[in-house]
Amino acid sequence: FAPIALAGSSPQERTFIMIKPDGVHRGLVADIIKRFEAKGYKLVGIKVLVPSKDLAGKHYAEHEGKPFYPGLVNFLSSGAVVAMVWEGKEVIKTGRTFIGATNPLASAPGTIRGDYGIDVGRNIIHGSDSVDSAQKEIALWFKPAELAEYELISKKWVYE
Ligand code: UDP
Repeated sequence: FAPIALAGSSPQERTFIMIKPDGVHRGLVADIIKRFEAKGYKLVGIKVLVPSKDLAGKHYAEHEGKPFYPGLVNFLSSGAVVAMVWEGKEVIKTGRTFIGATNPLASAPGTIRGDYGIDVGRNIIHGSDSVDSAQKEIALWFKPAELAEYELISKKWVYE
């Protein structure tokens, strides 16, 4: 995804955000969406699915071989997830800030994991950590036609 130049604004970027099965079962979907929406970011893709083991394994391919990998893949494919693509200025970095540290007990209050999680294997949410991983993850989880091209009417009230 190439940065889109907006008139009189900074380049936009996209990130892949996924509420994991624990976040769905615990009823945190609306709270999480609200944080990104209220910040001013634009939702361009969203779907609910139970990921196959193959998809979950590909998503976490960088961790293959680590002791927690099999459990992680099993967990992600054990229930419904909410997969999303959010767009806006520095949304990758801000998304990671919203999410907090990998270990919820080390996450600051106010972050999603800091507010709602305890164990690392039940840390509620995933967010891309770089432009490169965002591009790969969006392509893995979404077809181009599943991403909406539109302009938010609030754009000029969010960006100067
Ligand atoms: N994870 C785990 N045990 C560990 C480390 C990681 O179960 O010791 C899981 C955890 O769910 C984490 C995911 O593996 O979110 C991916 O790990 P990564 O280091 O990429 O953390 P993240 O980017 O999700 O903060």
